[in-house]
Amino acid sequence: MAQKRDYYEVLGVSKGASEDEIKKAYRKIAIKYHPDRNPGDKDAEEKFKEAAEAYDVLHDPQKRQQYDQFGFDGPMGGGFGGFGGASMNMDDIFSMFGDIFGGHGFGGFGGGSRRPQQHRGSDLRLKVRLTLEEINQGVTKKFKVRKDIPCQHCHGTGAEAGSGNEQCPTCHGSGVITHTTQSIFGMMQTQGICPTCGGEGVVIKNKCHECGGEGVVKGEEVVEIKIPAGVAEGMVVNVPGKGNAGRRNGINGDIQVFIEEEKNESFIRDGNDLIYNLLLDFPTAALGGEIEIPTIEGNKLRVKIENGTQPGKTLRLRGKGLPAVQGYGSGKGDLVVNISVYIPKTLSREEKEAVERFKNSDNFKGDKQTKETIFQRFKNYFN
Ligand SMILES: [Zn+2]
Ligand SMILES: [Zn+2]
Repeated sequence: MAQKRDYYEVLGVSKGASEDEIKKAYRKIAIKYHPDRNPGDKDAEEKFKEAAEAYDVLHDPQKRQQYDQFGFDGPMGGGFGGFGGASMNMDDIFSMFGDIFGGHGFGGFGGGSRRPQQHRGSDLRLKVRLTLEEINQGVTKKFKVRKDIPCQHCHGTGAEAGSGNEQCPTCHGSGVITHTTQSIFGMMQTQGICPTCGGEGVVIKNKCHECGGEGVVKGEEVVEIKIPAGVAEGMVVNVPGKGNAGRRNGINGDIQVFIEEEKNESFIRDGNDLIYNLLLDFPTAALGGEIEIPTIEGNKLRVKIENGTQPGKTLRLRGKGLPAVQGYGSGKGDLVVNISVYIPKTLSREEKEAVERFKNSDNFKGDKQTKETIFQRFKNYFN
């Protein structure tokens, strides 16, 4: 992960900059790196997001003070977006700072069409069950999603061809209605959003017969969703713009994908570490040797076993665990091998004779040091 740049440096202003200077500086950067001007340019998008994050903190006196005092590690540390900022999406930026572009949402910039209000489609929630192998690699999943899609007949406008808007007859264009009620305190006036136009002040003259003026209809879409490697049960991956279409060509909602994890036959997950329980044969534990340990990648690792290996010993294979989500955190986890030693449940006559020969050997009765180690292990376990 690249080092986070100082917010003042990002906006190119001094520590003592006024609110107005910060706003101007952000506006300049936001226009320069705006996605509409730099389509498909990932670098510009990153700069745009970086500036938005800096502005979010510095234009808010309280956040700015905390940042000045504590830096990134302050009480607000990491509090920007889900996966350490990586899931920050464009809609969030526009909805947060739309005013700075002189409009709302995507339509407000450059196009010159000032929309009074844009409808945002609601978010959709999906669940996905992943195997540990999929989590290790990262995976792209396809979903058939039932959701609101733009109406083909009216191209999402909600109006029949050639039909425009007219002033709302209920509120006469104000978007609000006033109720006057008689109460014990005298006449009371309350204002509410106009139910006819939903506060827009205008209504469609001739509503589309397919969608009833909504601009959206129920439909199906196959959505491909990329799940990053290293996710865990309970995490949510946000996919911006893939949720329900907004009414009348509004902004699309998001899809939130809730992660579930399938149990694995070979490994137990502990954070980004994987635990493998090895049942070692007695001769290898006694004599030493080499054994094979499976990995989550599906291959085998040759691991040296020292002679005199005791049950309960653990081996830590560095970096053979799961990756951290999008490279954040401490890199890859480890593969931890817990060793147990297998004692045969039945013996052939020959084996029995061989083992009986060891029976009276003091060397087989365990030494003080090993007894002490086991004692300590259980003591730690119960404390
Ligand atoms: Zn329609
Ligand atoms: Zn109205």
